[in-house]
Amino acid sequence: MSELPPCPDVALMRDLSETRRRFHRTPELSWTEYQTTARLCEELESLGFAVEWGQRLYARAPGNPPDPETDARAWQRAEQALGADNRYLAAMQSNRTGLVATLDGSGPGRVFGFRFDIDALPISESDAAAHVPAAEGFASAYPGIMHACGHDGHLTIGLGLARRLAASRGRWNGRVHLFFQPAEEVAGGGAVFAELPQLAEVQLFTTLHLGILDRYRIVFDATWIAARIYDVVYRGLASHAGNAPQAGRNALLAACQAVQGLYALPRHSAGMSRVNVGRFRSDNAHNVIADEVHFRYEVRGGDDAICDFMAEAAERVLEGAARMNGVEWQRSVFAEFSSCPNSRALAERIAGLAQGLGLPQALLQDSFQVSASEDAGYLIRRVREQGGEATHLILGSPVGGGHHSPTFDFDEQLLGWGVLLFERLVTEG
Ligand SMILES: [Zn+2]
Ligand SMILES: [Zn+2]
Repeated sequence: MSELPPCPDVALMRDLSETRRRFHRTPELSWTEYQTTARLCEELESLGFAVEWGQRLYARAPGNPPDPETDARAWQRAEQALGADNRYLAAMQSNRTGLVATLDGSGPGRVFGFRFDIDALPISESDAAAHVPAAEGFASAYPGIMHACGHDGHLTIGLGLARRLAASRGRWNGRVHLFFQPAEEVAGGGAVFAELPQLAEVQLFTTLHLGILDRYRIVFDATWIAARIYDVVYRGLASHAGNAPQAGRNALLAACQAVQGLYALPRHSAGMSRVNVGRFRSDNAHNVIADEVHFRYEVRGGDDAICDFMAEAAERVLEGAARMNGVEWQRSVFAEFSSCPNSRALAERIAGLAQGLGLPQALLQDSFQVSASEDAGYLIRRVREQGGEATHLILGSPVGGGHHSPTFDFDEQLLGWGVLLFERLVTEG
């Protein structure tokens, strides 16, 4: 197994490690990245970037915001940390988080876009001595919230790239947009950021995820599977389960039959597919024919067409179970992840740059399909539809505990390589 060589720029590594640890301590959930956004805005403006944040980025409201209590707690924490009169915070009311930072080089050239997700997860971070953030004193300061997917690392790469590009501004051409995107974990931010006017002019778009793999590998053409997540409600008619079961219409029975049917969906030969029901709820008394059930399910597919196939088959199952029991049903989209193929030419170009940086050939991997979903697919699709090139990289490595676990941690050397690779993409035009 190839090991990752240490990043040759020791001063860069020191800065990146300090930045990552600072952001790791103050994780914020999807759509509540108030403090994170404000801190990023402040530094990026001081570097000379033109920064847009808050209401101006939102043509429409976030589709799946957190519950009001969670949101209020995050807002209070941000006010305490930054001061209630913080100039960035004021424009972020009602979950308008994230930002776009733009810098022009010394002359005309191509328009680059880089996307970094910034949200954390509702997980309590481990305090075990073997967990590096706990042992070295930079574990989450916020109970029940943790950067357990590495997005603190992603935003650190974005900030590190910004510092380098600002310092070398006279030596590169074109324009760079850095998209610090909120709410990746709930699949909401990608769809909103895909509509931004800044993205509409991007010709070369790149994003990345660190970790993911069980070995050190830099993947230049990483694809993710599409997913659709739905909320369902079945509504029947309540009646006494002993006296008059014939008078009821059993929503619970219908929903149970629907769940069985979902797991028995036919599959598609063209690629992978998945189905899962992760939440199911019916609060009726034992002696009542249940009249209301709520559940949430997801289908996934290796590409959008397979995902559509699964979603349509699921709809027939839900409809059939409802009709068998004479109950009404409705479904609404909770979240969606699109899957879009990358541009081969851009992936190959970045692979060449990685070789030029001195990364060993054995570490470089052409492509990989991740059995999970990523809402950067919306941005990649948008850039490709407008004639630009786009690709998703993985700075692959084993991670502590696995993604979304209380002991998640990653090798900070990945941060340095990420910055150097992205910087070279811009400086080589
Ligand atoms: Zn994640
Ligand atoms: Zn992630």
